[in-house]
Amino acid sequence: MTLFIDVDDAARLFNQVGIRRALREMAGYIEADYARWAQFDKSPRTANHSTDGVIELMPTDDGQQYSFKYVNGHPDNGHRDLLTVMAFGLLADVDSGYPTLLSELTLTTAVRTAATSALVAQSLARPGASSMAIIGNGAQSEFQALAFHEMLGISEIRIFDIDRDASLKLKHNLAAFPDIKVILSNSVKDAVKGADIVTTVTADKAYATILTPEMIEPGMHINAVGGDCPGKTELHADILRNARVIVEFEPQTRIEGEIQQLNADSPVVEFFRIVLGEVAGRENDTQVTVFDSVGFALEDFSSLRYLNDLAQAQQIGQHIHLVPTPANIKNLFQLLDPQPAKASRLRTVS
Ligand code: NAD
Repeated sequence: MTLFIDVDDAARLFNQVGIRRALREMAGYIEADYARWAQFDKSPRTANHSTDGVIELMPTDDGQQYSFKYVNGHPDNGHRDLLTVMAFGLLADVDSGYPTLLSELTLTTAVRTAATSALVAQSLARPGASSMAIIGNGAQSEFQALAFHEMLGISEIRIFDIDRDASLKLKHNLAAFPDIKVILSNSVKDAVKGADIVTTVTADKAYATILTPEMIEPGMHINAVGGDCPGKTELHADILRNARVIVEFEPQTRIEGEIQQLNADSPVVEFFRIVLGEVAGRENDTQVTVFDSVGFALEDFSSLRYLNDLAQAQQIGQHIHLVPTPANIKNLFQLLDPQPAKASRLRTVS
């Protein structure tokens, strides 16, 4: 049987532990998997592009477990009252190929993306950082705010979105966490001024320049989350040229990240090297650092592992019959009725 976690179950799992602890625990799973980087089969994701968006498949395995995520990115979906990003995914046993867990990953992606951002920022933000600007106040934004609050002690969040209602929604949701001070800003420039950390998490299928070089102050850490597709960026290229740039998996980020704007040999540091202690994160107080986040399959593998462990501990989820279990494994045909299904044709609903 395969364990199935739907959206309600995922929400229950996170609610049982509390979202702040869930973010921290998720980050622990992600860090543990980055620390065993060499064990993973890694490839850039497969992306099917269309005029309005992209649908991506993200596979990986560690020799024992295999995972994939199906995820979309459709920045204009909001006009149809649909999510910009939604996802689901699967964990399987490598030895048999059998699926062990099938799960929603929309809510979970928001948790994993924020947990990854905060995990990376722990080695890159200036020690003592206390303020963060969030540009783009959509579905991902609360999770980003809470992860940085929980894992870095960020207590002041300045927010800006071209959609004022999105900012008001974020402010309203964060009111449940009174130790976070939320400041509504009137422009990107206002939000960013004096911030220790800047998170960009906008959605637009364009070479956008949400941040320009004159907004950047010495020692800032930029957590660039929204530029995650060919032709979809958020930072002016000169910001990248003057910063220490951290990436997840370089071959994928070259195609999809902010660094698609730079030459293919521009210097970058893969995050696993920081986790393993091979290189430093931030090198000095004035250095500008950029996490060029695009989302890597290993983080979804970690998410599925975490969900699985939570579900086992809390006995939440359903066991579903995703794979046939015929009495004779060579007789799959026995699952069918060789006669045409008479009853179903005649069935009427009274
Ligand atoms: P969303 O559509 O819910 O929110 C995006 C927000 O950005 C909207 O409120 C929109 O008004 C705002 N926005 C657009 N252009 C802007 C601009 N120029 N200035 C200020 N605000 C602007 O989307 P979401 O689910 O929050 O995702 C945000 C982005 O993050 C998407 O681009 C998505 O692809 C990306 N994402 C990346 C990862 C990753 O791992 N790197 C994971 C999940 C989502």
